[in-house]
Amino acid sequence: MPENAAKKLEVELLAITPDAEKLIEQAGRTCYLSFDRIGADSQKSFIKRLIAMGHESPLEHASATFRIRNCSRAMTHQLVRHRIMSVSQQSQRYVSEEQFSYVVPAGVAPEDEARFAEDMRTIQAMYNFWRDKGLRKEDARFVLPNACTSEIVVTANFREWRHIFSLRLSKKAQWEIRKSCWLILDVLKKHAPSCFEDFESGQTQ
Ligand SMILES: Cc1cc2nc3c(=O)[nH]c(=O)nc-3n(C[C@H](O)[C@H](O)[C@H](O)COP(=O)(O)OP(=O)(O)OC[C@H]3O[C@@H](n4cnc5c(N)ncnc54)[C@H](O)[C@@H]3O)c2cc1C
Repeated sequence: MPENAAKKLEVELLAITPDAEKLIEQAGRTCYLSFDRIGADSQKSFIKRLIAMGHESPLEHASATFRIRNCSRAMTHQLVRHRIMSVSQQSQRYVSEEQFSYVVPAGVAPEDEARFAEDMRTIQAMYNFWRDKGLRKEDARFVLPNACTSEIVVTANFREWRHIFSLRLSKKAQWEIRKSCWLILDVLKKHAPSCFEDFESGQTQ
């Protein structure tokens, strides 16, 4: 049985709008026809002003795509609620779970991890039993746990990423989606600091 996949949570940047901040400034300045103010360092203060006044639609011109691996179905179920995000996710109808890996919740004490692994083995046996009986993957998956890992590719524009961070980096959000969003935030801050620097980075280990 695989070890706890939570330790291997992975976020990979697949694509991002080139010169995203430059593009946002060019789009945003169209509103004011203030192209003459574009300078070496003008995008930083311009984008910050847009965000401060809530004029965030120019941020929709830039987008970023990430692949997330070794996360739980419990996490992806929350992430896919964001409707302005495009999603492609590993299917339990087409991909076999006869050797599924799983995420142990952060709240499980180290001394209880063996018991959690035992539960996963029981569920694995249940799934394999139904598959051996000839049940299709799409039906055998009904016995699978939320802990089951998934792989997902998500694309959102910068305005939507900001919205997702405002909800999912909060202490009220669940630990795994917070961790995933911190990893995404760290990447976006490198590529477009003016668009994301008002969000605090967090603990990703
Ligand atoms: C701490 C927390 C707890 C939660 N608990 C639950 C729960 O118990 N049960 C549950 O079902 N969900 C729960 N959710 C999910 C939550 O209700 C939202 O579905 C999810 O966060 C997506 O947010 P959103 O709709 O703002 O974002 P998006 O879908 O990303 O949309 C972005 C914005 O676009 C606008 N928008 C999008 N679609 C529409 C529309 N159809 N009509 C009008 N405006 C729209 C809204 O302004 C929205 O904020 C929880 C979320 C959080 C953060």
